Amino acid sequence: MELTKKERIKLPQQEMPTQSASERIKNIEEVPLGYTPEMAIAEAKRCLQCGPNAPCIKDCPVGINIPGFMAEVAKGNFAEGVKILKSSNLLPGVCGRVCPQEIQCQKNCTLGKILKDPSKSVSIGNVERFLADWERENVKEQEEINITSNGKKVGVVGSGPAGLTAAGELARTGYEVHVYEALHSPGGVLAYGIPEFRLPKVIVRDEVKNLERIGVNFHYNFVVGKTMTMEEMIEQYDAIFVGSGAGLPSFLGIPGENLLGTYSANEYLTRCNLMKAFDENSSTPILRGDKVVVVGGGNVAMDSARTALRLGAKEVKLVYRRSEAELPARAEELEHAKEEGLRLCLLENPVEIIGDEKGWVTGVRVVKMKLGEPDASGRRRPIPIEGSEFVEDADIVVIAIGNSPNPLIPASYPAIETNRWGCIVADEATGKTSVEGIFAAGDIVLGAATVIKAMGYAKDAAKSIDAYLKEKTDN
Ligand code: FAD
Ligand code: SF4
Repeated sequence: MELTKKERIKLPQQEMPTQSASERIKNIEEVPLGYTPEMAIAEAKRCLQCGPNAPCIKDCPVGINIPGFMAEVAKGNFAEGVKILKSSNLLPGVCGRVCPQEIQCQKNCTLGKILKDPSKSVSIGNVERFLADWERENVKEQEEINITSNGKKVGVVGSGPAGLTAAGELARTGYEVHVYEALHSPGGVLAYGIPEFRLPKVIVRDEVKNLERIGVNFHYNFVVGKTMTMEEMIEQYDAIFVGSGAGLPSFLGIPGENLLGTYSANEYLTRCNLMKAFDENSSTPILRGDKVVVVGGGNVAMDSARTALRLGAKEVKLVYRRSEAELPARAEELEHAKEEGLRLCLLENPVEIIGDEKGWVTGVRVVKMKLGEPDASGRRRPIPIEGSEFVEDADIVVIAIGNSPNPLIPASYPAIETNRWGCIVADEATGKTSVEGIFAAGDIVLGAATVIKAMGYAKDAAKSIDAYLKEKTDN
């Protein structure tokens, strides 16, 4: 029998089962274990079915029909739920795990509003993740391959979420798609940045396999702008999509950053995730310090700190110049990191990395900070407290203060317009750049942003590539 709205509101929220903190810091396996089918059904029943104008749909950057898939899951119709979900999101296994749902689809969920507690919203991400995993485990032949080629070719630069999304959308429409990736493996940040314990790499590999099944061609160890110039690429393809991301790490610009034992978060995470430095026999090992200081407060910093804990560090400190209230990392990541033993060193700003006579890091000199008035970002400005300097001991320092757009394409192809931050200038709705036939989306346009935004804009760009090429053929 159908539940009434009142009955739905009273249903208990299904808590995600997780590995215990003491267990999980000994391995690199995923922390949340996933819903059982019974839990997914119970959680989906909490959805109040707000209809086509539901706040969750409006707040999802790709406008997923959330009440639609919730209704199917509530009835146990998982295959139907998957169909609805995948009609607007090609990477649900990724998004269910890494999207910041608490500031997107779950933020204004009607149920959370009624219960006057946003944390009690329908757990949309957990149900989304369940559906993606259910499909992977239960549906062998995932997609009817029945695509008619339209004889046109599109080249894609980069295989991060933007590149993968554009490639999938275009291949489905009938284009011959070639993706060029600088690294030896696909996925962009999903593969080299986000650790296994948050996003198992098998999920990324499976999503790429699905794209290969629909005919997308991948070329690895191929740097566009070096292995092939953009001019050469333009000659070979009817249109080009650039999704080259924001993989250029920022540094502090303080003395001592060249000392041995100092890593950018990019290098630290790439060595662990892509180059398997967790394995003692890896041919590209990583330094395993006892005392690790991570500088920064976002997801990248949190991923680095939790990786250091799993590499066996005895003490991992997060040095952040504002207070906990301003920490930009997801609340869930921060909670997990604290449970795992991360020490927060708040209101501290590094002024120098110090080392021994052989050039190895021994610590980070920091100055204590206090918070002043809000700055342009809306967060309270940190102000150094004079005479408050002291040293945080460290044998490894990881700088995780942000990333800038990858400079390779703009540097090797100056014809494309960039802004003062080095992002490629592209129209938000269409992805059109200053060069006819070249489209761009994701972090190379937005600066370091999110997976779902990269996917959403890439999907729009793919549509506009299709429209552009159809118009060109008609004329
Ligand atoms: P990328 O994922 O950066 O992919 C770009 C790809 O292009 C790379 O593989 C690169 O090698 C390739 N490339 C670049 N130049 C060339 C070239 N010239 N030729 C060929 N290939 C090239 N977002 C979330 O939503 N949730 C999270 O939890 C989250 N955690 C994160 C954790 C870390 C450690 C990092 C670094 C980022 C995180 N993000 C998260 C941000 C998110 O991953 C990015 O916003 C997203 O990956 C951007 O996608 P993209 O496809 O634009 O770029
Ligand atoms: Fe369901 Fe919440 Fe979306 Fe309403 S806003 S449809 S309750 S998930």
